[in-house]
Amino acid sequence: MKTLIQILENSNSKLKNLEQNIRRLERLKEYSEELTRIKETIEGFKKTEYKVRESLKSRNLKKKQNDYDYYDPGKYDVAYFYVKSMNDEEIIPNLNFKPSLMTKCAKCKSETPVLMSYTQADDSPEGDSWQAVAFYICCRLKEIKTITSSNRFL
Ligand SMILES: [Zn+2]
Repeated sequence: MKTLIQILENSNSKLKNLEQNIRRLERLKEYSEELTRIKETIEGFKKTEYKVRESLKSRNLKKKQNDYDYYDPGKYDVAYFYVKSMNDEEIIPNLNFKPSLMTKCAKCKSETPVLMSYTQADDSPEGDSWQAVAFYICCRLKEIKTITSSNRFL
């Protein structure tokens, strides 16, 4: 019986330890998913900027230069912009890729530019629907937070 009690005490403390480690791993997993989202967002932002610049360049040259000539942001990808302004119905992008509208991180209160994603959600004969999501990335806490979203039908 003594041995059995020892095993019980031992397993109890081991289990407690393991559970702590599992919780720690879960937090790390969440953090890694958040960082992945941030990384993909920044990569997407850089890609949009590149495509828009290339398409403007070719339009100015008035001849077909490359595949980005007819780039339609959000049509076949998720496009990202800084936000110029927003209200309950609309989120307006700043097309020059410079920070414009600022917000404060809800948690640490540091100032950060408002960003948006823009993508076609539905393409149908009755009309296309576009989704815009305004969000910010807190550089201090490495978090991405949605502010608001809007759907537009054309
Ligand atoms: Zn913050």
